[in-house]
Amino acid sequence: MKHSMKHDRHGPRRLPLALCLALACSGASLWSSAARAASNDNNVEWNGLFHDQGPLYDSAAEPTASTPVTLTFRTFKGDITSANIKYYDSADSQFHWVPMHWVANDATGTYDLWQGTIPASGSEKYYRFQINDGSATAWYNAAGISSSEPAFGDFFIIPGFKTPDWMKNGVMYQVFPDRFYNGNPNNDVTDGQYTYAGCATEKHAWGTSVVANVSGCNTEVFFGGDLKGVIDKLGYIRHTLGADIVYLNPIFRSPSNHKYDTANYYRVDPAFGSNATLRRLIGAIHDQSQDPRGYLILDGVFNHSGDSNCWFGAQSYGTKRCRKPGADVSQASPYYSYYTFQHWPDSYSAFFGFPSMPKLDYGASGSATRNQIYGSYNSVMQTYLAPPYGIDGWRLDAAQYIDAGGNNGSDATNHQIMQEMRTAVLAANPNAEILGEFWGDASAWLDNGREWDGAMNYNGFTQPASEWICGVDYSGNGASITPSQLDGWLHGTRADLPTDVQQTMSNFLGSHDTSRFATRCGGDIWKTYLGLIFQMTYVGTPTIYYGDEYGMQGGADPDNRRTFDWSQATTANGAVALTQQLVRIRNQYPALRTGSFMTLLTDDAHDIYAYGRVDQANRIAVVLNGTGNTETVTVPVYELSVTDGSQLTDLLSGSKYTVSGGSVTLNVEGHYGAILAQ
Ligand code: CA
Ligand code: CA
Repeated sequence: MKHSMKHDRHGPRRLPLALCLALACSGASLWSSAARAASNDNNVEWNGLFHDQGPLYDSAAEPTASTPVTLTFRTFKGDITSANIKYYDSADSQFHWVPMHWVANDATGTYDLWQGTIPASGSEKYYRFQINDGSATAWYNAAGISSSEPAFGDFFIIPGFKTPDWMKNGVMYQVFPDRFYNGNPNNDVTDGQYTYAGCATEKHAWGTSVVANVSGCNTEVFFGGDLKGVIDKLGYIRHTLGADIVYLNPIFRSPSNHKYDTANYYRVDPAFGSNATLRRLIGAIHDQSQDPRGYLILDGVFNHSGDSNCWFGAQSYGTKRCRKPGADVSQASPYYSYYTFQHWPDSYSAFFGFPSMPKLDYGASGSATRNQIYGSYNSVMQTYLAPPYGIDGWRLDAAQYIDAGGNNGSDATNHQIMQEMRTAVLAANPNAEILGEFWGDASAWLDNGREWDGAMNYNGFTQPASEWICGVDYSGNGASITPSQLDGWLHGTRADLPTDVQQTMSNFLGSHDTSRFATRCGGDIWKTYLGLIFQMTYVGTPTIYYGDEYGMQGGADPDNRRTFDWSQATTANGAVALTQQLVRIRNQYPALRTGSFMTLLTDDAHDIYAYGRVDQANRIAVVLNGTGNTETVTVPVYELSVTDGSQLTDLLSGSKYTVSGGSVTLNVEGHYGAILAQ
């Protein structure tokens, strides 16, 4: 749940200009100048330097305590005299040096490759490279290249930490259940069925306005979508689009259409079906005859409950009641400690002060609240991870605010709770995903290997993609960036995170908390095409908010939650067809999921951005055109060690290009791209 007033939105970590990013400053011309001219001349050629934690440069992406990590570093051939790894070991709080040795040239003969090995141990480590050519020294780490030793931005080694491989390799589809598909008209909320927070329920016809007839009552507008509808349309998600991970906005019993105010965590809302319907949905998603099997992530709203929850008990919704009175009904309630009262019963901590969302008080380790939410075998989180449900992960709503004593989190207690939660979740399902909601730099929950696997990537994908492609930020305010700025933003936000975390960040064009991408882009479907190509070739788990795959329109909440238009859900829609093609391409090429990321071109004058995705099997150059016109682009593919005379095939168009002089030249349509592979 977003609340725009107080979300902590750190800006992107924009790097100082002095830190020239590894390859952003390079171009085709270098091939014939610096590369050929490199020598031991007391000058390190920055444009030749490259390392990341991709499979060609790091022998163990997710090492255990017994795995040594061999690192490979690239320079221009003959450029340098020596190279060293310098790493900080948290075991002794000291820096250690590993001299590197020359091992090989690349396939083009343009580069030297150097290696060194960090010995195995269980402690976290952070490393950087020192590159020397005689009297000259350059430093290289995840943040970039500098002439003086960097103070931050090293690469991470976190032995024993692992993010789910299915999340790294999957494509996620986000469903807002009331608005996706009505699979069972018999369970629809009807006009005036009940009244909540002064609003009578309204049943609107599919395809009509999401705005309530009564002002201020938008969260009591219902369309009838449900879990049976997700089951019925699983073929569209799995086969038409090819997505294998379903993320559902909240589904538990709640009086609102968004269900971020939970009345009963142990029951599916009756308008969405029953717990048996949820089990049927999970069975259909997990169907082993599908290849690959699918995965389900549920939305966990654990910062606050609804005031209709019987733990709180001021109101009731639905039929199930606690046997004992709620905390707001009796100070003798067994749930009294679940909430924080400043003055019982009328003053209590709530999500941004909304009385309908009383904040859960997590107390100290071992508290009743912690056991209720995650700590015990019958806790909410473990119940759905275990049989007969067996969900694959939790998305944590408003997770930064989870805390004790009515405080709004982001402190030591919040991190302690998140660590306990991870331990409990992985004990119940070692392959489970923990996906946190945080709008800014989420590295505080992601850089230690003990809390989340990934986060909703507003900061490192949604925002820069919107600003570059649409010229507005995700709130729709004017903000435009160049390819150079985009590249610096992406580089900086990746550098904040361990590589396996980067690969499971949820990259979406829009969400239930932003206006629709297509609307931010002025309804130009070509900008959706460009957004999809970027999303499906970038680092992280592509996440499609239902309808974005056909360019669904909509402004801010509630307009971003319109009903799905099923007449668009075929490959007759160009964006749906492109989504299908892109998902297939992503599924076919592991380099697009877990390969290195290498900037190839940032042409601000022509609004062109090109990058490489590389592993042992494939070398792929992605070219994106941010203008509305066809542009002729020369891509320096030698940086991917693609040899002259070999061919690259555009996986989108099928066109083939022969490499000459270290590069290929091609025409790229406006607001479109090319995915050049070999
Ligand atoms: Ca040199
Ligand atoms: Ca229904």
